[in-house]
Amino acid sequence: MREKPLQKANRGMNDDKVSPRDTAPSASFKCVRCGACCEWKGYVRLTDDDVDRIAGFLGMDIVEFTDQYTRLTEDRRSLALLEKESGACVFYEPDPPQCVVNEVKPTQCVEFPFGWRNAGWEKVCAGARNGARKIGLTQSDRECF
Ligand code: SF4
Repeated sequence: MREKPLQKANRGMNDDKVSPRDTAPSASFKCVRCGACCEWKGYVRLTDDDVDRIAGFLGMDIVEFTDQYTRLTEDRRSLALLEKESGACVFYEPDPPQCVVNEVKPTQCVEFPFGWRNAGWEKVCAGARNGARKIGLTQSDRECF
């Protein structure tokens, strides 16, 4: 199956804010819903499927959704969610920490921390600090927002 242009562009999703990952996720990693990843500055890039899914979830058409909640990344390779003034994701609500679009959240968010290469993520993420380091966990082993 041919890759859509946006999917192709998003393959290196976090390249703009990454350096090589310095620590692998822990096998005992468990999200404690601290919200640190949602407050992390940097793009939340969207795949075509993310856009379709989130727009549908919000009852918006694609144009309306992209106008209201997204912007073109500086490298012009993809759309990313807007941020609040604080730098947090536009869909993040801090009290209590929650993602407004949790059921349909972007692929990049689902893949945190396993698909990310952000140096120092384990210092920011409260879930990472909870467990001993061990390699081999899959995404289905964790529960997050
Ligand atoms: S879409 Fe949801 S999970 Fe992803 S960064 Fe925004 S608030 Fe967090």
